[in-house]
Amino acid sequence: MAGSLDGQRTHRAEHSTGLWDSVRKAAFVIGSSLFFLAAFRNSITWHLQRFWGASGDFWQMQWTKVHALFGGREWALFFVGTMLVPTVSFWLLNALFLIADATGKPSFITRYRIQQDKNNPVDPVRLRQAIRKVLRNQLFLSVPMVLVTYALMQWRGTPCSLELPTFHWVMLELAVCGLLEEILFYYSHRLFHHPAFYKHIHKIHHEWTAPIGVVSLYAHPVEHVVSNMLPALIGPIFLGSHLTTTSLWFTIALLVTTISHCGYHLPFLPSPEFHDFHHLKFNQCFGVLGVLDRLHGTDSAFRQTKAYDRHVLLLGLTPLTESIPDQPKKKE
Ligand SMILES: [Zn+2]
Ligand SMILES: [Zn+2]
Repeated sequence: MAGSLDGQRTHRAEHSTGLWDSVRKAAFVIGSSLFFLAAFRNSITWHLQRFWGASGDFWQMQWTKVHALFGGREWALFFVGTMLVPTVSFWLLNALFLIADATGKPSFITRYRIQQDKNNPVDPVRLRQAIRKVLRNQLFLSVPMVLVTYALMQWRGTPCSLELPTFHWVMLELAVCGLLEEILFYYSHRLFHHPAFYKHIHKIHHEWTAPIGVVSLYAHPVEHVVSNMLPALIGPIFLGSHLTTTSLWFTIALLVTTISHCGYHLPFLPSPEFHDFHHLKFNQCFGVLGVLDRLHGTDSAFRQTKAYDRHVLLLGLTPLTESIPDQPKKKE
């Protein structure tokens, strides 16, 4: 009796704290990164002052140099910042994951695989097809969209101005960009799951039920524009962000989406369990942070799983599939 009351109480408590839980998780991710950046900011400045003999204006000096390097060709500077830097970062991180996907080595990475029996090693034919599509999306869609964004931002203000924004302003803009991305990505993604759109558009992205890093941009062209590019572009355009902020934001967005698709729950990196579960089950976990999924109840099945228990920042070296194994089937 007491046990069952306890059970009910726990169940009720879980239910009522559900929304709070996901808000807390999202706030923790954003809050802790802001806290650490704020905390380290002073010590970074201090170290930079020591090593480079620079004043607190170290970043400003670097930016002035880069700006001078490009002379008056601001469009070229904008292209390098918003296209080249994020894209090179994307492929560098993906190259590391691809080595693990293609060879099954090194084992210190592959032992963190979420869907343990999948992509071990990855099918080379499917992989080549995915890479070709990602490159086409980047070349024929991302590049033109970034150029249009440059025109919009020129009209809006001076994205390449000589004066850098303050550290705190950059943090605030990143938070706003993250929030706008969450809203636009969640709703456009759910729309693409509507049968009218799914069959011809979003099904391509879901060919990978066990995703790998590059699959993050493996999508139908319409989806790449609406769900991948627009949610990321809208923040900097809306805010009239400085090029350096936009560059940092695009780089973070591409690295985060790579990690959420990579298929490995590695220590000290954001948990990819949420989106991995979306690829596994199709009708759960549509957002990035998970707050909108909680509001709309689109994470209810996910929250009953072991994957949900594993959806934490791993702070040790033991893979979560070992410390929180899937429940062995109980006898009735
Ligand atoms: Zn995906
Ligand atoms: Zn989907």
